[in-house]
Amino acid sequence: MPGIIVKPVTTDEVSQIVKLANREKIPIVPRGGGTTYGGTAYSRSPEESSLTICMDLTRMRKMLNINEVNRTVTVEAGITCTELETRLRRRGLYVHTVYGPADSVTVGGVISGVCGGGGGQMFSSAGNNGPYFIGVKAVLPNGDVIETGTRTNAQASMFGRVCHGPDMTGLFIGHMGIFGVTTEVTLQLFDWPSYEGVGGVAYDYENLDDAHKAFTALAAHPARPFSLLGLIGPGPESIMRRIDWTLFYKVHGFSQEEVDQKSKIASEIIAHTAQPKEWDSDFVRILQKRSLLHPHDVSPRKMGMWSYPEPCCPRDGTLGIVKATLELMNGELESWGGRIKSAGSAVWMHGDQDYVSFPLHHKESDPEAREKALDVWKKIIDLALEQGANFLVMDKHIGDMCAARFPPEYHDFLRTIKKSLDPNNIMNPYVLLLSED
Ligand SMILES: Cc1cc2nc3c(=O)[nH]c(=O)nc-3n(C[C@H](O)[C@H](O)[C@H](O)COP(=O)(O)OP(=O)(O)OC[C@H]3O[C@@H](n4cnc5c(N)ncnc54)[C@H](O)[C@@H]3O)c2cc1C
Repeated sequence: MPGIIVKPVTTDEVSQIVKLANREKIPIVPRGGGTTYGGTAYSRSPEESSLTICMDLTRMRKMLNINEVNRTVTVEAGITCTELETRLRRRGLYVHTVYGPADSVTVGGVISGVCGGGGGQMFSSAGNNGPYFIGVKAVLPNGDVIETGTRTNAQASMFGRVCHGPDMTGLFIGHMGIFGVTTEVTLQLFDWPSYEGVGGVAYDYENLDDAHKAFTALAAHPARPFSLLGLIGPGPESIMRRIDWTLFYKVHGFSQEEVDQKSKIASEIIAHTAQPKEWDSDFVRILQKRSLLHPHDVSPRKMGMWSYPEPCCPRDGTLGIVKATLELMNGELESWGGRIKSAGSAVWMHGDQDYVSFPLHHKESDPEAREKALDVWKKIIDLALEQGANFLVMDKHIGDMCAARFPPEYHDFLRTIKKSLDPNNIMNPYVLLLSED
């Protein structure tokens, strides 16, 4: 529990608070929607907590500027993804944010807490939000306010990302709040393709290799016709009966004709690559009705607490990581009599990588199951890192586990930047193993 909570409304207020904290050497943890699932680090001890500032940015939620010619929208960092998307949709526009839970996640939290991940409703086509962030306004740890991108020319608007030197917007993507507080974000605008179609086929449970082969062939298509492409299967103690591997896709278009054309391309690629057991799988309709309408609302009944290990894998390593993880989970959870369940496993196309998800659920009232679930969660993260995967949603625990594997030269480099920007180490000091003591 942080001792001090502040809810600033303007960049100037943020700057004043940061200056004061810097003078008094009080740690600040910026907070958006608080939905990070890597664990938040306030302090090391309860005593220290009382001297930690939680800076809640959710009152900074204005949409500041839409420029349909330059294709940009600038917002305050505390606006939620749902609010932004809803307001843009009314104008037939779209930005890549997160798939879920968009009602809580803020734009500042997306740019700071997800290493370029996200993707919004068009998850797979975006894959990675990194390129769609154009610029930020940020309050540095000494209280100075800077803007990146084309705003490095004080006369210019924010219309481009790389300008007059290195890409400093990138410094604020996935930084988890260690380099300052982001107060404004400019994102790339798109027109919203309002026509939608879904499709999917099933492969035998034993036939994961063929299913992934078809998935890979779809993902390699140069036109990238899919807004979402996933391969969904069972997990240990699955709440679903033993299911097949379902290859699922969603397409968007600006006309029904475009949607039909894209769906046809999908069927042809699948037919040429690996014949499925079943076309138009029933499970696709369940998916469409349930988890895809309410992304991440997949908790088995009465087992609401979840822990999601979600590695981002190189596509040529995905199969190995999925198989090894399922084996690990089966072994670890075998004797737990269903106290920890899995809603299944999923591989999502994520640009040129695969985003793999293994949801684990337990009851909040079962502390032993919680410990076990967290232990398995950590083992899966370790296994995936060992096999060359990376993690997008960062924070305390995942961040520290990843940082433990940084090459020493890289860690020195990161610490050098951190030290020069934040000599008093006040901004989110206890993540990425940055504190040397
Ligand atoms: C159920 C669930 C499903 C999810 N699904 C997806 C998904 O599909 N795609 C995806 O990309 N992500 C997903 N996420 C992850 C989520 O998008 C990220 O954790 C995101 O960073 C959370 O944003 P937030 O506003 O809640 O930030 P918080 O959790 O409050 O903060 C995250 C980190 O960013 C820092 N931070 C927050 N705001 C600022 C700021 N303005 N300036 C500086 N630092 C800041 C915080 O200090 C913290 O380190 C999911 C999370 C949950 C719980």
